[in-house]
Amino acid sequence: MISFNNPPFVGKELEYIKQAVDSGKLCGDGAFTKKCSAWMREHFDAAHVLLTTSCTHALEMASWLCDLKPGDEVIMPSYTFVSTADAFVLRGAVPVFVDIRPDTLNIDEKLIEDAITEKTRVIVPVHYAGVACAMDEIMDIARRHHLLVVEDAAQGVNARYKGKALGTIGDLGCYSFHETKNYSMGEGGALVFNNDDYLEAAEIVREKGTDRSKYFRGQVDKYSWVGYGSSYLPSELNAAYLYAQLEEASRIDEKRMSIWNMYDETLKPLAERGLIEQPFVPDYALHNAHMYYIKVKDLDQRTRLIDHLKANGVMAVFHYVPLHSSKAGRRFGRFHGEDVYTTKESERLLRLPMFYNLSMEDARYAASCVLSFPDFA
Ligand SMILES: *Cc1c(COP(=O)(O)O)cnc(C)c1O
Repeated sequence: MISFNNPPFVGKELEYIKQAVDSGKLCGDGAFTKKCSAWMREHFDAAHVLLTTSCTHALEMASWLCDLKPGDEVIMPSYTFVSTADAFVLRGAVPVFVDIRPDTLNIDEKLIEDAITEKTRVIVPVHYAGVACAMDEIMDIARRHHLLVVEDAAQGVNARYKGKALGTIGDLGCYSFHETKNYSMGEGGALVFNNDDYLEAAEIVREKGTDRSKYFRGQVDKYSWVGYGSSYLPSELNAAYLYAQLEEASRIDEKRMSIWNMYDETLKPLAERGLIEQPFVPDYALHNAHMYYIKVKDLDQRTRLIDHLKANGVMAVFHYVPLHSSKAGRRFGRFHGEDVYTTKESERLLRLPMFYNLSMEDARYAASCVLSFPDFA
């Protein structure tokens, strides 16, 4: 069976984990955490990078830093992972879902302004499949209406918008290093931002509501409880795994990109015959080969294609149940405007196997199994 995903392993992970063990320090913010943050600050041109235990937790930190009050509204797509909304719902905010663009499956920037009310505080663009949202338009709307922008760049680590790293364009950016993402530490993430004004509050929220980060820098002579917080620091064991991946980021990128390009080339004849749709990458976006998906006719055809692939030993998956039609989404949020594309596109999207250690031979076989689907004969 060809898996849909395996966690990436590039080579030095165990050596670095051993170094972390031998260092006698396993808790957060040790040598490997510092190396990971420095690597990202440099490569993504970001002033501040705080490693976290997940992207979900980075989003929770971002929602704290937005200083939301119950009833405040946060505009986001419904076609996304639950954490995009849940992190804000935890603060009592109301997710206001707007429709996606059918081409990139990102939030439709043209629909955002109409969803703004006097309660709107934040816009959350989700860079689906590592393909950038229309950030100039979104930042312009945010400025004119005095809103904050939190980028859910869980899938967009090391992808770009007009040359800028995703996650560094809005006020706050959130990365994921879950095992299904491009670079991994099993479970993990990061909060990214350029504005120094967020630093002190972000460090306090991340360190259980204490000013321990200041204490370690020698800025205060003891640390104490100064505000709300939780524990969002990953262990050095996880950071060591991630650092081995970041060091080899370009190797990971090349491998994923070669699989992505092979899928795109191999399946092009199906798109030319109008049988499937392939991913669209606008000129302003440099994607990171996070995901290869195709869109088929409808839900029924997708179900049969998944069965056909499984019968041939290939695991392919779909996502998301649109948040506005989920149990919690109906309870906590609302959809503004008409759902023209969110449900329709989510029902016909299929993701093909994509991970660093996937052999090109297996990926070619997976593509050939799509070609042999009887509907496409
Ligand atoms: C993976 C993902 C998350 C959550 O990431 P975790 O690190 O697992 O918490 C959030 N948003 C999007 C769009 C994702 O793809």
